Amino acid sequence: MKKIFAVIVAGLILTAATVIAAPPQFDTPYIGNSYRKTFHRRDCPSVPEMNYKNQVPFNTREEAFAAGYSPCGNCKP
Ligand SMILES: [Zn+2]
Repeated sequence: MKKIFAVIVAGLILTAATVIAAPPQFDTPYIGNSYRKTFHRRDCPSVPEMNYKNQVPFNTREEAFAAGYSPCGNCKP
């Protein structure tokens, strides 16, 4: 019983940490910003600051260029 409680608490802490860190919602190597029409590497510092609803997944740079997105000047994808 105690073990189950510990698992639930650990799960809640993990969930809270995820919300704070706001990782990209996609697993793709590149994340586009539909508001700015720019795309980033997954690990760019701009990605966690991006609004979830503006995030667009891209598997390749070509895909992002084809969609009319420009590479970020910071992470240079
Ligand atoms: Zn970037």
